[in-house]
Amino acid sequence: MVPWPRRAAPSSLPGPGSPEAWARRATASQTEPGLLRLDVPPEQGESATVNWQDYESEGVQAIAGSATAEELDAARVQYLGRKGDLAQALRGVRDRESGMLLNGVRSRLEAAIAERREAIEREELETLYADRSFDVTLPGEEFRRGRLHLLTQIKREIEDIFLGMGYEVYEGDEVTDTWHNFDALTTDHGHPSRSPSDTFYFSDDVLLRTHTSPDQIRLMESRQPPIYAISPGRVYRRDTPDATHSPTFLQVESLVVDRGITLADLKGAVLHFFRQLFGPQREVRMRTSYFPFTEPSVEFDVTCFLCNSEGCPVCKYSGWIEMGGAGWVDPEVFRNVGYDPEVWAGFAFGLGIERIAMLRHGLPDLRLFWDNDLRVLSQF
Ligand SMILES: [Zn+2]
Repeated sequence: MVPWPRRAAPSSLPGPGSPEAWARRATASQTEPGLLRLDVPPEQGESATVNWQDYESEGVQAIAGSATAEELDAARVQYLGRKGDLAQALRGVRDRESGMLLNGVRSRLEAAIAERREAIEREELETLYADRSFDVTLPGEEFRRGRLHLLTQIKREIEDIFLGMGYEVYEGDEVTDTWHNFDALTTDHGHPSRSPSDTFYFSDDVLLRTHTSPDQIRLMESRQPPIYAISPGRVYRRDTPDATHSPTFLQVESLVVDRGITLADLKGAVLHFFRQLFGPQREVRMRTSYFPFTEPSVEFDVTCFLCNSEGCPVCKYSGWIEMGGAGWVDPEVFRNVGYDPEVWAGFAFGLGIERIAMLRHGLPDLRLFWDNDLRVLSQF
């Protein structure tokens, strides 16, 4: 709130009650024709005359000299107030002539006050506008817009690509149980990933998911094929943070279950995905590998999108970048969710979202994603 501008207090005029005013009125009323002599103020018990022409002109002067609403109100109280000379005199009027005279004075003073009040309000508004005026052509204060985190952007981009292929996005819970995270996926009881030194446990069989595969199990448990789905999300592993390790990261896994699915479908889906993500020139190759829940298993590489396979430090001068793992869903996994492996076949593949972000933007350290350093994050 900006205070209203104040001006200097008005010079004090001799009011109707001041000795000078009384004296002046007394003499003036003797000499000037057409003026009434009235006893004012009656309660003082002394006879005093007011020169109403002087009274009016003093009042008009005081009103005109009022710089603020407060000063104007003080003048109004003085010249028109209930205890003022005029109000007192009007109360004692006995004849028409003095009534007309005094009412004339009153209405002219009231008109002067109304006019001055309007002028003061206008002046105060003008001053306020002048104080607050601004140049609309000046550049405004920059409004800092938020944005999606780079990893969220890439996650959504991946979701868009798969939605375009007719897949659904299925997001499950980050807290799961050993059945969905390990057993249903046929992970051996002695597998090191089950160890508390690798996995965060809440109890013997409740844990933070170590991959998004539990979502695929839940999805298959909940319905019959065909299934074309991806499950993106945050996963947890007991790793000490460094440039390439983090106890939490984002993964996306795809799952297809249908009749007559072949490895060619897997390769076609992966190729389409990487061409959408890294450009239409990309090629994909598969190398045999091993994962507990797929048989056979492959790892897939994509041609380097940074050097166009010419060779660069990112692809270690091989022209290929390792992107993730995939494979044929193990028949035992199908049995665990109640599917007949003689009828249904399918593939799954998974990749890390941070890895895609680091490769695409040349970020050297995984921790940059979690440091909340806006100098880094606001670049994307
Ligand atoms: Zn390269």
